[in-house]
Amino acid sequence: MSGSVAERLAAVRERVAAACARAGRPVESVTLLAVSKLKPAALIREAYAAGQRDFGENYAQELRDKAAELADLEGLRWHAIGPLQTNKVKYVARVASAFHALDRPEVARELSKRREGAPPLPCYVEVNVGGEATKSGLEPGALGAFLEEARALPGLQLVGLMSLPPPTDDEARARGYFQTLRELARTHGLPGLSMGTTHDFELAIQEGATVVRVGTAIFGERT
Ligand SMILES: *Cc1c(COP(=O)(O)O)cnc(C)c1O
Repeated sequence: MSGSVAERLAAVRERVAAACARAGRPVESVTLLAVSKLKPAALIREAYAAGQRDFGENYAQELRDKAAELADLEGLRWHAIGPLQTNKVKYVARVASAFHALDRPEVARELSKRREGAPPLPCYVEVNVGGEATKSGLEPGALGAFLEEARALPGLQLVGLMSLPPPTDDEARARGYFQTLRELARTHGLPGLSMGTTHDFELAIQEGATVVRVGTAIFGERT
């Protein structure tokens, strides 16, 4: 991939806008998350200078360290998008503007406790729509009970569902995963849909994504 971060970001923004136009949706209805995991703080500064404000990180300690290093960037919003162990919840509770991978009651309870005195943390509940044995995320059938429990926690604000479906070049199949997530969100009265990556964010927008999480197309391949 060639070009500067600013150029790649501009190209992704154009593709987001075009996908919104095709879907008949306003471009403001989609938030572009720049997924900066494993990428140096200097590249995040470049993206920030180009106007990007929402960044996604997978690993709690990396998030903690980058938030400290980049604390001077006003208005930057961190989104924690990876699975979380209870002993690392504190880092996310302190610095994140949103958490996109909520799928365990222990983590939900701990996050809620750690947000005491702060505004509730907007959370997306992760669903395993591909039915993969090794993937994180709740089975669709377990969603109702989980939501009931999590909605009662004062430190969390449940805003939507999230998924990272198995990669596929079969467009109908990719759409199917996104549609499943959208239907589940509708059934459970949740407005947000965090879905779509470099590989498939345009399809995700077509299927109703409100947040797309794009790493490689902005920052290049991860090693
Ligand atoms: C890494 C990651 C992304 C971004 O993936 P790209 O293919 O680099 O765009 C999005 N969501 C999650 C949960 C990730 O872990």
